[in-house]
Amino acid sequence: MATQFSECGPTPFNQGWYKALADISPVGIFFTDVEGNCLHVNRRWCEISGLSPAQAEGHGWLLAIHEEDRENISARWQASIRNNQPFWAEYRFSSPQGKVTWVVGNARAVLSEDGIVTGYVGTITDIDKSKTQLVALEQLSTRFKTIIEQMPVLLFAFDHQARLCVWNNEAARITGYTASEMIGNPEAMELLCPDPDYRKRMLDLYKNKGDFYRNWEWQLVAKDGEVKDIAFSNISQSHPVEGWANWGVGIDLTSLKEAERKLHERVKELTCLYKLSVRANRPNLDLDEFLQDVVEIIPPAWYYPETTCARIVFKEKIFQSEAFAVSPWRLSSDLSVRGQKVGLIEIYDKEQHQPMAEGSFLFEERLLIDEISLQVSRTISHVLAKQDLRLLDELTAKTEELEQFAHTISHDLNTPLAAIAGFAELLNDRLAKGDLGQAHICAERISEITGRMEHRINELLKLAKIGKIIEPTDEVDFGEIIDEAINALAQRLSDSCIKVTKDKTFPKVLGDRERLLEVIENLLDNAIKYIGQQPNQVEIGCRSEPGQTVFFVKDNGIGVREKHFDTIFELFKRLDKYSNGNGAGLAIIKRIIEAHGGRVWVESEGLGKGSCFCFTLGHVFSD
Ligand code: ADP
Repeated sequence: MATQFSECGPTPFNQGWYKALADISPVGIFFTDVEGNCLHVNRRWCEISGLSPAQAEGHGWLLAIHEEDRENISARWQASIRNNQPFWAEYRFSSPQGKVTWVVGNARAVLSEDGIVTGYVGTITDIDKSKTQLVALEQLSTRFKTIIEQMPVLLFAFDHQARLCVWNNEAARITGYTASEMIGNPEAMELLCPDPDYRKRMLDLYKNKGDFYRNWEWQLVAKDGEVKDIAFSNISQSHPVEGWANWGVGIDLTSLKEAERKLHERVKELTCLYKLSVRANRPNLDLDEFLQDVVEIIPPAWYYPETTCARIVFKEKIFQSEAFAVSPWRLSSDLSVRGQKVGLIEIYDKEQHQPMAEGSFLFEERLLIDEISLQVSRTISHVLAKQDLRLLDELTAKTEELEQFAHTISHDLNTPLAAIAGFAELLNDRLAKGDLGQAHICAERISEITGRMEHRINELLKLAKIGKIIEPTDEVDFGEIIDEAINALAQRLSDSCIKVTKDKTFPKVLGDRERLLEVIENLLDNAIKYIGQQPNQVEIGCRSEPGQTVFFVKDNGIGVREKHFDTIFELFKRLDKYSNGNGAGLAIIKRIIEAHGGRVWVESEGLGKGSCFCFTLGHVFSD
């Protein structure tokens, strides 16, 4: 748009009123001719540009323009003139002293009365302050955007229509959905949480929480179907942002969760191995109990404990965990002892789960079953070796016993045999002399000694057989046995004026009734034989001690010296040569009690102080 200068003439800058105005003007003013050559600049123009009016004349004004903007501004200026368009541009002035000033340049044509362009007039406004602020603001905004986009934290914001309006690079990286796919998309939520139940549950929870939560874990489904664990924090309530209904940040915990899960699995596996070693190191380990324990310990160590079950097959025996069932998803490992397969551990998953990287089971689970079978195999080896050792010990003890037995037999039978031989010689002699009376006496002596020998041989056979014939499988009422033994010996007890007292109750035991009766009868028989000063009394009872019940037959007879506490239980060991006995009774008792898993011993305070014969049994029933 051209302006008429008719009232002022073509060059108003010579006129007094203009000079005054131009002098006080806060903006720079310039005039050019029709070609754009500068004719006049005011004081302010010179201040901003750092040039003198003379330097500005002609094309000199172009030097005031910053060299980076000069070409562009010159071209635009020429274009405005050419097209008869007003000129407007933001650019920089640069003074010869190096001072740079942002300006807005405005210019338009000056027309004569008949509408012909006579020149141009324009202003230069110093906008340096606001322009610098604007540039700084733009830089700040760019930096802020870069940080938001590039920070390794997911940033989201919803607008007031509940549509996503911010979705940064990290959000796109984690989920695989780009900003253009998510921003403004009314189905963004369905994409991230495709399971409607889960989505509803989480959104209901959100209604309760509102826009203020920290590290609230969500499981988002990424575009490639992978599930991502994200901890969201929303601080919109305390830090609202204009234009955003709510906003927050999210941290990708997926790898952390995976590491946590792996750690958890490792802890379960270690716990399993630890429990296994604790069980394996129990004293007096029972192999069956141990193997049952192992199948119970295994399932909790697996990734899906609820659907995992275990089975061990060992020497035709089968041990199974609770609710065991065979399925197509199976892991197994052999149990072997000294290189020989002795059994098998099997693990079944009763359900098919999402295939893991390593198939139905984790790689670690495959390693774990091998480790478990190694440990179990070792334990079985130890137990079997111990059993072998125990058998060897028993065999050694038996051999020793047999040797002693043979020695005793030969010694014990030699004496009467020598006596028989002596009497036989005498018999021959008497017969030769026709002394039938003496011969008869010799024959009687021989028969008497033979009878004793027979009795002794019978006792020996009895003792030798005891280990084999005992069947400790009856449930025996011990009180009944005692009554029976007392009845059997009632006459002799009464002849010896022995008063027998007994406990009111006795427990039931597991044992061979006949043999246990023999024990009590033998002990009572000894109490009668080794009677002491009047009044004679025998007490039969039982007492409870930690972990055992002790049965006893106590008399107030001649007693036993401490040094004989063990020897009296040896075969044919007798302390009193003149008493009526053969020294086999206590050895037989010892054999019977030990065959019942018990122990027998004597307690006595010495000679004349009575004896108490005590014993335990392997299985006593509690009430
Ligand atoms: P026996 O009685 O036939 O000699 P035992 O084996 O029963 O053989 O006993 C071995 C020895 O133990 C006996 O010779 C006796 O010296 C001693 N003895 C057994 N019972 C008693 C008792 N109640 N009081 C004192 N000594 C006993």
